[in-house]
Amino acid sequence: MAQRKSIDCRDHPSEKNCSLRISGPEQGVLDAAMQHAVSAHGHKSSPELREQLKSMLKDASD
Ligand SMILES: [Zn+2]
Repeated sequence: MAQRKSIDCRDHPSEKNCSLRISGPEQGVLDAAMQHAVSAHGHKSSPELREQLKSMLKDASD
């Protein structure tokens, strides 16, 4: 089974004080994180944003 990844907004404090955590297969986490970053944090969807989010992924233990 593929390693699950997670991304946690708490690792990256923002003005929104967001505590969302997403975990799952890397592609799914990235897709969900992209949508979240755009809709909740007002980021612009771009390849650069995806790379940035990718660098924030950590191995999930659950
Ligand atoms: Zn967030």
